[in-house]
Amino acid sequence: RATIHIVGAGLAGSEAAWQVADQGVRVVLHEMRPHRMTAAHRTDGLAELVCSNSFRSDDASNNAVGLLHAEMRRLGSLVMRCADANQVPAGGALAVDRDGFSAAVTEALDNHPLIEIDRAEIDGLPPADWSNVIVATGPLTSAPLAAAIRALTDESALAFFDAIAPIVHRDSIDMSKAWFQSRYDKAGPGGSGADYINCPLTEVQYHAFVDALLEGEKVDFKDWEADTPYFDGCLPVEVMAERGRETLRYGPMKPVGLTNPHYPTVKPYAVIQLRQDNKLGTLYNIVGFQTKLKHGAQTRIFRTIPGLEGAEFARLGGLHRNTFLNSPKLLDVRLRLRAEPRLRFAGQMTGCEGYVESAAIGLLAGLYAAADARSCTLEAPPQTTALGALLGHITGGHIETIDAGPRSFQPMNINFGLFPPLADPPTRKPDGTRLRGNEKTIAKKQAICARALSDLDRWIADALRPAAAA
Ligand code: FAD
Repeated sequence: RATIHIVGAGLAGSEAAWQVADQGVRVVLHEMRPHRMTAAHRTDGLAELVCSNSFRSDDASNNAVGLLHAEMRRLGSLVMRCADANQVPAGGALAVDRDGFSAAVTEALDNHPLIEIDRAEIDGLPPADWSNVIVATGPLTSAPLAAAIRALTDESALAFFDAIAPIVHRDSIDMSKAWFQSRYDKAGPGGSGADYINCPLTEVQYHAFVDALLEGEKVDFKDWEADTPYFDGCLPVEVMAERGRETLRYGPMKPVGLTNPHYPTVKPYAVIQLRQDNKLGTLYNIVGFQTKLKHGAQTRIFRTIPGLEGAEFARLGGLHRNTFLNSPKLLDVRLRLRAEPRLRFAGQMTGCEGYVESAAIGLLAGLYAAADARSCTLEAPPQTTALGALLGHITGGHIETIDAGPRSFQPMNINFGLFPPLADPPTRKPDGTRLRGNEKTIAKKQAICARALSDLDRWIADALRPAAAA
């Protein structure tokens, strides 16, 4: 049987190697540390956690990342097994002893008879005679490999920095203040002329908002991020505000071509627009609001925007060094590079964010690569599962809107906005009384989690087991 080469033994590569070997297929896992380190890694351990030691909530009953934990455990995840075995007290979160965790992953991979670990940098495209490769070199992919991937794709297809605007759950926007309308009612391809959600600001509100941006606490760049370029067209919103009090009103907050149907005779002084972010229409991003404000400051300041007082954020803004592909354009549904299908990608490079999400995409890439090596087909997990929802974000759930430019795809954590809405959302408690306010939100999340786990079990029985047995 063919050998699968995996480049990078971080969260994604380590999980992928385990899944491949578990399917009885040989793996060579190439890791450049300790010969060449990244700016964030400190050890030679596999699956090193470079910052926090938390895998976030472990609650699979009504939390999206907790659900992802549960799904990965059902698929025999090595990362989850080693996390569980090295848990430290952290309330409802799953936090780990980072050295113990990394040592456990390293030992399991070292001892597997089908896995060989090669401590070397892959400093260009993987050799042409490697026919089944997973590239999982992460946000700090070494420069020669990144350059080779960029040359194979195109200039704009591999980014070295993310520029993230906050994303809001559509159903948390107050439409008694906001309204749907495209500027000048312009309908682009596939658009209706009412594609944006608009939030109006008075002159007083605008100036208070600019003051809050200027005063808000910002995150510092790390030393190795100091050369972060500010691209034209994606300046952080607070940097735009620093350039002049009216800059935003002539930029992303311009009020032209829009009429507030709630007060048609009152012209807003400024307008903040939100653009649909996923095909499901459950998530909207705040246009032009990429930011280095601290998360607490973002939540506080953005909830002063009329219509967003109760906003629930699927993701807050940021700007970091991050190597990632424009995956919806470049990758097929099985995470293979369309231009060169022998190369499959996994982890944060594909446009997910976080330790758990990176490992989850490593898990799927491993299953797909093993299925290819065994010449059988593996259907994608249903989009109703956390794994399927995350895969959907990466390979197709994102929409490229007319004016968003070619690089509107940005990395994301798992969140409930990536799941298809429930056909029949719960409205009553088991005793028949009506659900109210927050109870409704919790019941909805619980129903999404229950649906996910039962659909995952069906996928394991109907798709995964037959493929593994083939
Ligand atoms: P990594 O875990 O980085 O693994 C990639 C591996 O590839 C590394 O071991 C690297 O040495 C190796 N490699 C790179 N290039 C080559 C090459 N050419 N040849 C061979 N090997 C190579 N997520 C969180 O959930 N919580 C956090 O607190 C958090 N903090 C972060 C802090 C920083 C500074 C960064 C950059 C990211 C952080 N992330 C965090 C985001 C992200 O989820 C993690 O970086 C995660 O480790 C990504 O998993 P990965 O497998 O894709 O990449």
